Amino acid sequence: MSLQVILLGTGSPMPDPNRAGPATLISVGADGDAEHYLVDAGRGVLMRMAAAGVGAPDLTAVLLTHLHSDHFTDLGDVITTRWIMTFERTPLTIVGPVGTREVVEHLLAALGPDIGYRMTHHADLDHSPPVDVVEVSDGPIDLAGTVDISCAPTDHRPVEPSVGFRFDHGGAAVVVAGDTVPCAGLDKLCEGANALVHTVIRKDIITNIALQRMQDTLDYHSSPEEAGATAQRADLDTLILTHYVPPVPPGGGDDWRDLAASVFAGRIEIGDDLHRVDVDPDPGKGT
Ligand SMILES: [Zn+2]
Ligand SMILES: [Zn+2]
Repeated sequence: MSLQVILLGTGSPMPDPNRAGPATLISVGADGDAEHYLVDAGRGVLMRMAAAGVGAPDLTAVLLTHLHSDHFTDLGDVITTRWIMTFERTPLTIVGPVGTREVVEHLLAALGPDIGYRMTHHADLDHSPPVDVVEVSDGPIDLAGTVDISCAPTDHRPVEPSVGFRFDHGGAAVVVAGDTVPCAGLDKLCEGANALVHTVIRKDIITNIALQRMQDTLDYHSSPEEAGATAQRADLDTLILTHYVPPVPPGGGDDWRDLAASVFAGRIEIGDDLHRVDVDPDPGKGT
């Protein structure tokens, strides 16, 4: 059975009318048996999930790769919407690197007035938003679903810690890297996997922008070629690029694909928001 990857948000911190903030949905199964794992929760994530037919109550877990604001701007929206759209106590599992618990506690504190208003107004809402925070650094992550999930440290320094996630199901495996430069942790996650979702920036373009704040982004992100090289080292079937800096016009990205293809021989997916990629087991690898 395949894993489905939906690029919910392919944007970056730069507001873009066409691209929501960083968010990727990994799903297996269908209808009532489906499991949905949301990796990062950037700007507009619930709008894009609605377009994909998935609501906040449907999420099996939210997983954060790191605590850069653009990767969790709408986590508060996910928490609140899940809470008011479920009718029995349904904790939201939030997985992330060390520091995630503190961020979630502060988010809930900021939502305090709203939580109070709603509990006062709705007699049947007798609990505040239930969340289970799981802080991770390396190794398997024990969630209740049928998907085997693991993580490894990535290198997005000075943003520390940061992690990438791997999802294994039915012989297929997809890795979601988040923001990182090539590193041993990501290579380890990719061993024997089928697909890699990787954030990228065009260093060849950014390097010509005479703004120090843009120059600063060069040393902790991967270029399409670096993401491609990671995919090639692991002999993956598919590389899925997202988090395009600078923004790619709708329907564009062929030049990005060419750069990745210069070092990676497999399938390369680049898309607009809601682009879907099915990841199947590779019979040739005996997985
Ligand atoms: Zn980042
Ligand atoms: Zn980012």
